[in-house]
Parts: sequence; C-alpha cells; structure tokens
Amino acid sequence: MPTAEETELIQAALDAQRRAYCVYSNFPVGAAIRTASGRIFQGVNVENASYGLTICAERVAAAAAVACGEKEFTAIAVVSRNGVSPCGACRQFLAEFAPNLPVVMVDSLRPDVIHRATLDELLPGRFEGPV
Ligand code: ZN
Repeated sequence: MPTAEETELIQAALDAQRRAYCVYSNFPVGAAIRTASGRIFQGVNVENASYGLTICAERVAAAAAVACGEKEFTAIAVVSRNGVSPCGACRQFLAEFAPNLPVVMVDSLRPDVIHRATLDELLPGRFEGPV
C-alpha cells in the first residue's frame, strides 16, 4: 500500500498521464516529481514523428522542476500500463540531481499496487562525469 505522500504523487502522475502525447506508441506515461520544497512537477512522454526525438515523462518532469528553480528531488512516481521502470537514459538523467531518489512504479490500472526502488538500485555505477 502506498503512503499518503506516495498516493498524492501517484495521483499527480495519473492526472498527467492523461495528457501524454503518444500518438505513435499509444503507451501513455505520467510522472510526478516531488522536490524538497514540497512542490510537485508533472511530466508526460512527448513523442515525435522523428521517433528518436521522443522525451520520456520522467525527464519532462525533471526538466519542469529545474526550469522552476527546483533541483532537489525527494521522490518520483511513474505510472504506465504494467507499471514499467524508468529507461536507462532517465535513470542517468535523474541521478544527476538525486542519486538515491526513491522511485515508485505504478500500473495505472491498479494504482494501489506499487513497486518501490531507489535510483541507486536501478542504476548502480552511474556515469559521474569525466573527472
Ligand atoms: Zn526514459
């Protein structure tokens, strides 16, 4: 069972999912990131006729937060059919800001059943830059 905080985040991700632009895959994904200030930023997958330009919901949410001056992420919820896990690119992208970020993965048809992981578990040995 999700906690009250997780439920709020999941609901925001579910709300966002309805606005996904996924005319090619028909696979809507919604994401919601909570920041240290308590604000929640939503994201959806945004596809493109040039498939490779597609942006995932997780990165859209992270970019929205950063654009509003919020770089301290405390949790992310990702909702989709079957409750998929963030792709490798999104794991690396999110780890830039919060390497141990709690990730909640949710099947949008069964939002009471959640899977939890930390970004650290999902992406061990992340690239940390050319230092
Ligand atoms: Zn992704």
